[in-house]
Amino acid sequence: MEFEGFYDLSGQVGVLTGGAGVLCSTMARGLAACGARIVVLDIDLAGAQAVAAQLCHTNTEAVAVGCDVLDKDHLREAARTVITAFGGVDFLINGAGGNKAEATTSHELAFFDLSPDAIRWVFELNCLGTILPCQVFGEHMAEQGRGRIVNISSMAALRPLTRTVAYSPAKAAVSNFTQWLAVHMSREYSPEIRVNAIAPGFFVTEQNRYLLVDQETGQFTERGQAIIDHTPMARLGDPEELVGTVVWLLSSRASFVHGAVIPVDGGFSAFSGV
Ligand code: NAD
Repeated sequence: MEFEGFYDLSGQVGVLTGGAGVLCSTMARGLAACGARIVVLDIDLAGAQAVAAQLCHTNTEAVAVGCDVLDKDHLREAARTVITAFGGVDFLINGAGGNKAEATTSHELAFFDLSPDAIRWVFELNCLGTILPCQVFGEHMAEQGRGRIVNISSMAALRPLTRTVAYSPAKAAVSNFTQWLAVHMSREYSPEIRVNAIAPGFFVTEQNRYLLVDQETGQFTERGQAIIDHTPMARLGDPEELVGTVVWLLSSRASFVHGAVIPVDGGFSAFSGV
């Protein structure tokens, strides 16, 4: 086996759902640096356009597609547009996801009072919002006999985090589904379709800022500090620190890695707290 160019993704077409978000826009920049052509897919079209424009400035071929990952027809239309423009899709990163205050317990909001709508919103975005793009882009990968999918799970999938009632089980479902889909794609379609996930530790982004940072003082909340205290590396992650693992999973270096959920967490998942 030759080792040169293992991380080279030149010419490969990657779709990133939630591509306008903090983590996936950073992954997009990292993947572009390895030569990939990028489709920034997000419900926030203006945000996706801004990310794509930034990538184009660095001579990356990039397009923005406005799309709701919970709408299968919309996803099919997006897939048609991308396949027509680029000739195919080599990899999919399912980054659309998140949590919201209305589905999180607090002093003001007891578990018993959480609304079904808020709980459903979190379940659907994280779980269904991962499964539907896998159906649409996975069908294309099955037809072409190759492809790679990386889902975004969370530390919350390994052991539930306090307060995040719906987010923890929804991310556990993402990890479980990643394993299921890995087996299914290999056995039913092609061993050249690999499916994995990453389980990031803690990174301050739009969907969790209210939990980690005090809006008034800008200091870490008690919860933010507790997370740092339970992270052996004693800090939060920088979104750029996810890029290496994602590039590795998509590259030929990970050609025998399949159905894995890789933690990128500064040691959080290894630490018992004692
Ligand atoms: P973010 O809020 O910055 O990005 C999420 C993106 O998803 C946004 O651009 C949003 O517009 C998009 N989105 C929301 N609903 C959508 C829909 N229906 N269709 C299409 N796009 C939609 O959050 P982030 O922290 O960058 O999150 C990226 C992923 O990483 C999420 O799945 C999140 O749960 C996961 N994650 C984040 C952390 C963290 O510490 N930030 C840790 C573990 C896992």
